[in-house]
Amino acid sequence: MTAGIQAAIALPELVEHIDRLLQAERFKDYCPNGLQVEGRARVQRIVCGVTACEALLEAAVDLEADAVLVHHGYFWRGEDPCVRGMKRRRLLILLKNEISLLGYHLPLDAHPDFGNNAQLGRVLEFKAEGPLLNGTESDLVWTGTLDSTITAAALAQRIERALGRAPLHIGAPEDEIRRIAWCTGAAQEFLEAVVDIGVDAYITGEASEQTVHVARECGLHFYAAGHHATERYGVQALGKHLTDTFGIDCRFVDIPNPV
Ligand SMILES: [Zn+2]
Repeated sequence: MTAGIQAAIALPELVEHIDRLLQAERFKDYCPNGLQVEGRARVQRIVCGVTACEALLEAAVDLEADAVLVHHGYFWRGEDPCVRGMKRRRLLILLKNEISLLGYHLPLDAHPDFGNNAQLGRVLEFKAEGPLLNGTESDLVWTGTLDSTITAAALAQRIERALGRAPLHIGAPEDEIRRIAWCTGAAQEFLEAVVDIGVDAYITGEASEQTVHVARECGLHFYAAGHHATERYGVQALGKHLTDTFGIDCRFVDIPNPV
């Protein structure tokens, strides 16, 4: 690679583009969306990842990235704002190396093309109907259908093949599944909301103890397919869009996480 001819973009232009694309200001979120930590003024290379953990930041340093783009960034509502220990180490890596941190949480779940929900539907080969638009947070829940009816066990296998991780499945394996609702990440609390919309199964990332009982008693198949595993695809689609649009180098770095 010849550094001199590689495309670059000014940081404010990059941030403005993504903010506008994802309509970041539209969301009431648990964290700030957009530029969370400011690094150098020009961006040639971005490391994309699910979570801005220390291992991802180290990868960004090794790859000489100018920015890190993630779904799970920093400064979550209710967290201790003091910069100590783990937080100090993370911020030190960013600031010392002048690497920017861009974080997009709900906007990157919800986008109709680049969002985690849209992309998970694509990866699992669902015919997406789109989000449930009832004006609440559950408009992050998408619905869709399978090409043909398959058993609940076959759907579990499809999820395992596509995501490289066996899901937790609650329900009778031989039941037939045709219509599905899904929401990436930790959206197990939406299970009760989808009971009434006429789907056979609900897929999200995580499960809670009570989720199992709700699924059993409401007669809905439930799949916990992994928080990390279900949220790897939005940031990759966004990175590809940035490469296609600006010619900048975007690389997805997967830091494995079994949850
Ligand atoms: Zn998440």
